[in-house]
Amino acid sequence: MIKNNTPKALSLLLAAGALTAGVATASAGIAGAAPGSSAPDGSGITKTVVIGLDGTMLDQVEAADAPNLHRLIAEGTSGQSSILGHPTISGPSWSTILTGVWHTKHGVVDNTFTGSNYEQYPSAFTRIETAKPEMRTAAISTWGGIATIAGSGTPKADVVVTTPGAGSGAATDAATADAVVNEIASNGPEFVFTQLDQVDGAGHSSGTAGSEYRPSLERVDVEVGKIVDAVDARSKATGEKWTILVTSDHGHKPNGGHGGQSEAEGVTFVIARGAGYQAGVVDDTLTIADITPTVLDNLGLDQPADLDGTPIEKGAPTATGSLGLLTGSLGN
Ligand SMILES: [Zn+2]
Repeated sequence: MIKNNTPKALSLLLAAGALTAGVATASAGIAGAAPGSSAPDGSGITKTVVIGLDGTMLDQVEAADAPNLHRLIAEGTSGQSSILGHPTISGPSWSTILTGVWHTKHGVVDNTFTGSNYEQYPSAFTRIETAKPEMRTAAISTWGGIATIAGSGTPKADVVVTTPGAGSGAATDAATADAVVNEIASNGPEFVFTQLDQVDGAGHSSGTAGSEYRPSLERVDVEVGKIVDAVDARSKATGEKWTILVTSDHGHKPNGGHGGQSEAEGVTFVIARGAGYQAGVVDDTLTIADITPTVLDNLGLDQPADLDGTPIEKGAPTATGSLGLLTGSLGN
């Protein structure tokens, strides 16, 4: 079994101060977002942005000065689980995230993408564009492997962008996030996926126990905040419903590196914040294979029968003991 259902208490939930401090409030400009405009197929859908944080570990996020991610955790449903049994490598994991099936079906086992089976198990982009070609889908990422996935199949994503290197991992991620903000504000896509890479870079160079990992988390949190602000500003201006999903593809060893089957390398997480997700719920049964089913469900599309994941549950909370304390501590 790939799912790991072992509950894990989020120590963050007890750090109430972290939940209310430092929440960014700058609003992004909205271009071309006519109030009242909605999705091509009318109202009732929820648009989704998936923010992929390469090589990022939730326990490290909790310990970092990362107010934007802390806020998403506090306002949504989140959980940590293991992918062990599955390669702890970006290509296979982002393929799982973007297809809703594990490597045993999508066929990607490393970053060469040799053996990919996206024809039988297409990306979320292809699923959406097949069902509703009028919907806008975009992939804007720092790592070029995402374009391999988003550009696969027919039809593929409407927008497939790999950010040109900007001199450092942090600068390139900033450019990626700026492009995502612009896409959300200007075009209001039904589905936008982004991947930010600097935390993985820091993991490789210093390990999670080294000096570079924590600062990289705190920098990427700023980029997450820009995207959250753009979503919230657009939602407020247009009345559109939006969900923000945050996830990762693998962990890192304390001294750096991944690709093996140790516990630290196999850890991943999912955060779901938006219409219907209850504040502060922790559900460690969530897996990275649930991302695509959730995106399709939000758009009112049928669930393909052969997906391995399931849509993240909305409504009544299923966990945890910390919930009362957490929600009690939240202001606005
Ligand atoms: Zn990766």
